[in-house]
Amino acid sequence: MIRLPFIFGARIAAASVLSALLAAPLAYAQGELNIYSARHYQTDEALYTDFTKQTGIKINRLDGKEEELLERLKNEGASSPADLLITVDAARLEIADKAGLFQPLKSSVIEARIPAALRTPNWAAFSTRARVIVYAKATVNPEWVQTYEDLALPRLKNQLCVRSGAHPYNLSLGAAVLAHDGEAKTEEWARGLVSNFARAPKGGDTDQLRAVAAGECGVAISNSYYLARLMRSTKPEDQQVVRALGVVWPNQKTWGAHINVSGAGITRYAPNPAAALKFLEYLASDSAQVYFADGNNEWPVVKTAPVKNPALEALGSFKPDTLPIGQLAANAAQAQRIYDRAGWR
Ligand code: FE
Repeated sequence: MIRLPFIFGARIAAASVLSALLAAPLAYAQGELNIYSARHYQTDEALYTDFTKQTGIKINRLDGKEEELLERLKNEGASSPADLLITVDAARLEIADKAGLFQPLKSSVIEARIPAALRTPNWAAFSTRARVIVYAKATVNPEWVQTYEDLALPRLKNQLCVRSGAHPYNLSLGAAVLAHDGEAKTEEWARGLVSNFARAPKGGDTDQLRAVAAGECGVAISNSYYLARLMRSTKPEDQQVVRALGVVWPNQKTWGAHINVSGAGITRYAPNPAAALKFLEYLASDSAQVYFADGNNEWPVVKTAPVKNPALEALGSFKPDTLPIGQLAANAAQAQRIYDRAGWR
């Protein structure tokens, strides 16, 4: 049941939820699996058909934007047809968890396959991505940009391009910096970044990569898969961008490159929780891990999964941050307050 709120802005949200419902109604059919997914990559298709082939369980999928799916789950409450929510970024999974949208995730298969640092009691990560530093090979000395902390130093004045501080990717990065460097240093760092901005934050990570290649800035922060996507692109303009860029695995001599995740949890009111659990256990299998991670040029969380991705191979190996993903999620709200004070909009 959808309760119509009285606030104008919220009413618009409810209306879009309603139209989404009409566009793609999901049934409550017993023994089927209803997935709300914010991941929609072509190779994910093989993942779903393979699961149905293995188990005979039919999947009904609703693809949408992260925020829309969260809003929809909240509005639907106990009458939601959703069994599973798949989304990206620990900060968003944390928002869903805090809103009480998940139920406890208990599985000996998942516990055996997925490292403890990549799970929380209510959701698990199924692939990882790194937040990397990218610089203009023509103008920037890579020695200057070896750590996230380096990006706040005055010698990079007017050089830094980065998306909004309100975006979950940057909130999760801030959450990691907070965990390693403490609150005072993180605030000083955020202020340093803001004073190094080449322009007011705008666009997504790919826009920052293009801006570095175009000479608009000397250095940028980006999730690894955006870079991998450009590396695998056959468009001449993308190849030109890649040729102009150097990549640094950040903080290799200290706490490691910041890692984020795609993850999933069983929804609190799942009509088919057994099927949902079966799907998550399937996602932790070697073959599903390859589909899931490779679909977005990410790394599997199960180390034995045999990924063959030329862009990831070209990027090479690196030392990842080992901070438990749950701690990252828990720090995101404080990171937002620090960014607000520092003026990283
Ligand atoms: Fe993304």
